[in-house]
Amino acid sequence: VEARALSAKFAELREGGPPKQVAVIGGGLSGLACAKYLADAGHRPIVLEARDVLGGKVSAWQDEDGDWVETGLHIFFGAYPNMMNLFAELGIEDRLQWKRHQMTFAMQELPGKFTTFEFPGWPAPLNMAAAILGNQEMLSPVEKLQTGPPLLPMLVAGQSFIDAQDELSVTQFMRKNGMPERINSEIFVAMAKALDFIDPDRLSMAVVLTAMNRFINETDGSQTAFLDGNQPDRLCRPMVEHIEQLGGEVRLGAPLERIEVGADGAVERLVLRGGEAIVADEYVSAVPVDIFKRLLPEAWSTMPFFAQCDELEGIPVINIHLWFDRKLKNIDALCFSRSPLLSVYADMSTCCKEYKDDDRSMLELVFAPCSAVAGSDVNWLGKSDEEIVAATVKELERLFPLEIGADLPGGGARVRKSAV
Ligand SMILES: Cc1cc2nc3c(=O)[nH]c(=O)nc-3n(C[C@H](O)[C@H](O)[C@H](O)COP(=O)(O)OP(=O)(O)OC[C@H]3O[C@@H](n4cnc5c(N)ncnc54)[C@H](O)[C@@H]3O)c2cc1C
Repeated sequence: VEARALSAKFAELREGGPPKQVAVIGGGLSGLACAKYLADAGHRPIVLEARDVLGGKVSAWQDEDGDWVETGLHIFFGAYPNMMNLFAELGIEDRLQWKRHQMTFAMQELPGKFTTFEFPGWPAPLNMAAAILGNQEMLSPVEKLQTGPPLLPMLVAGQSFIDAQDELSVTQFMRKNGMPERINSEIFVAMAKALDFIDPDRLSMAVVLTAMNRFINETDGSQTAFLDGNQPDRLCRPMVEHIEQLGGEVRLGAPLERIEVGADGAVERLVLRGGEAIVADEYVSAVPVDIFKRLLPEAWSTMPFFAQCDELEGIPVINIHLWFDRKLKNIDALCFSRSPLLSVYADMSTCCKEYKDDDRSMLELVFAPCSAVAGSDVNWLGKSDEEIVAATVKELERLFPLEIGADLPGGGARVRKSAV
């Protein structure tokens, strides 16, 4: 309801004044969504995207065989009201393939086995309570009892309690509150790596609690959906069409080189690589923080607001596609690998309609942490694709011991091709 009201407000602004030309830097989901709502409000956005493909982290390319290679494995949670509203407004809700409401974890002590937290069709928070109590394989009753009390203030005080935990890492919060260490290895490592691609000793507890709070309080909050096909066509294209229909513009291959500001510190123009100047009434940055730090005009760098950027650092992550010569154990869900090298993964030949293949699996995996800043003692970013794929396959031999491994009869499942 709130999300619908918010976007209805943009439409009401249409008659509110003369249209403005707004330059939006970056054609990822943020930039495109921003431009969509600016257009709804009667303005004329012009999106400047550096690359020749839409979507930023949700972009994808076709290889020489016509297979899609995605920048990142993506799922959508029920707890994304604005995103759901956007899908509805674009008339593409049917492109979200909702999966059974469960969370699937690989079992650490039982390689090849998976355990699920099943959310029954009851209202929140009962469905999550039932999911936690119903799973007997990951946490003992005593561990569940030790985990609950430190999280109770979150239920009572909500976001103010969550924000107050921001100075603590997940591991520090756990230890401070006497949570058993196994909660870390069983749950928090998987959550931290899935939410932010880093280990729990480096992630603010506020991040984990924010997600948990949404999942506990929203009946469908933790239910996941996969897009039914490649992201540029199935999600970004309808946004661009909407923007263009309302008089906006989306330019690919338009990399911003610098932001020029006047004596009063206000933006005078954007200058693209190649020299073209873009002058607009308003300017929006929708680029990742590391890029924004490079674009930040000298005159702004000491302003308290922008100086906060110094505290922000992007976390690198590696996304991998492995195309196999046969079908692996069929799981129609996002899986938490709980492996030291990998975060979440999914068999996209099962989970995604466009990539469907009944005979051969295509695993899309998030490889994290992959650098020192994220908690890895190996700088995987400096390794070759072959080394990364080899390490991933070795890890998969552990996760799929009956299916992957050179020692298996016939040599097990083979990787036909890969993309990193
Ligand atoms: C591997 C991976 C998996 C993920 N999985 C999930 C998930 O399952 N669920 C989820 O909710 N989120 C997920 N995320 C996070 C999600 O992808 C991001 O939060 C979201 O896509 C960010 O969108 P954005 O528009 O803010 O940034 P971006 O997508 O980074 O877009 C920024 C755009 O700016 C462009 N740009 C950069 N420099 C310039 C310049 N100088 N001039 C013009 N344009 C420029 C870039 O090319 C890019 O297109 C995942 C991220 C990764 C990396």
